[in-house]
Amino acid sequence: MAGTLYLVPTPIGNLGDISPRSIQALEEADFVAAEDTRVTLKLLSHLGLKKSMVSYHRHNTEKMGQAVLDRLLSGESCALVTDAGTPAISDPGEELVAQCARQDIPVVAIPGPCALVTALAVSGQPTGRFTFEGFLPMNKKNRRARLEALRGEERTMLFYEAPHKLPATLSDLAETFGADRPVSLCRELTKLHEEVRRTTLGEAARWYQENLPRGEFVLVVRGAQPAAPEEAILEDGLELAGRLRTEGLSLRDSVRRAAQELGLSRNELYRLALERELQGERGAAPVLECGLE
Ligand code: SAM
Repeated sequence: MAGTLYLVPTPIGNLGDISPRSIQALEEADFVAAEDTRVTLKLLSHLGLKKSMVSYHRHNTEKMGQAVLDRLLSGESCALVTDAGTPAISDPGEELVAQCARQDIPVVAIPGPCALVTALAVSGQPTGRFTFEGFLPMNKKNRRARLEALRGEERTMLFYEAPHKLPATLSDLAETFGADRPVSLCRELTKLHEEVRRTTLGEAARWYQENLPRGEFVLVVRGAQPAAPEEAILEDGLELAGRLRTEGLSLRDSVRRAAQELGLSRNELYRLALERELQGERGAAPVLECGLE
């Protein structure tokens, strides 16, 4: 029977964030697959654990992935860890999990530290619906295409970014979404210099053009305002009022009924209906009446 692949999250800054269950998984696994064995060695020493380790990182996923799979298929269990946070989230592991799924090898994901969830929770931006975009492509054309695809995105958007690329990324985001779009810059989460700067893309871009960004960042960008259905709804209101008009109702009564049925502002609908009548759209004689509310 195949062994289990455990996805073990590690702290994104604060060592106290490793959970008892993660420690147990590290303790009990037959071997640990680590993104950088030197980083993981420090964590294991801190936990007082000695483990057999293999290195599994983005440049050897094919070769090492197969070696890990072979050991899992032979019945060994493996704890997969990355340098920080949850494996497979903008980190090595995604492909290994997919291969395990294809070969019916059990995978257990242990919940724990993850920069995107921590940032979203503290951002102050709407959390009900969000999209995680990870790192934007570095290639100019792909980056532009990705940003264009997000232009009308209404959900909160999360981006990972390295400090040296932050100023350019903020400028690109401001250009795409507008300088006034709210953003929360979540920096050095769970660390000594943790900071959440809630501002706009334009202000953030200006600030980091002049001040060197330091540390790790998650950008939480407010989604686009939903396109106001107002206009369309008012058009519906006008249509209904028009129909009622042809049935013999006065302008005032037809607007009153239409506004009530569709939940619209009577004054707004009345103003528009009057405008239309004055323009002679329906050919009816304008009935000048006073405001309704
Ligand atoms: N797998 C990790 C996770 O679960 O969040 C993400 C790894 S990804 C290679 C590294 C990126 O995560 C950084 O460039 C940064 O955007 C974000 N990140 C990691 N730790 C962070 C922290 N303490 N504060 C803010 N962002 C962090």
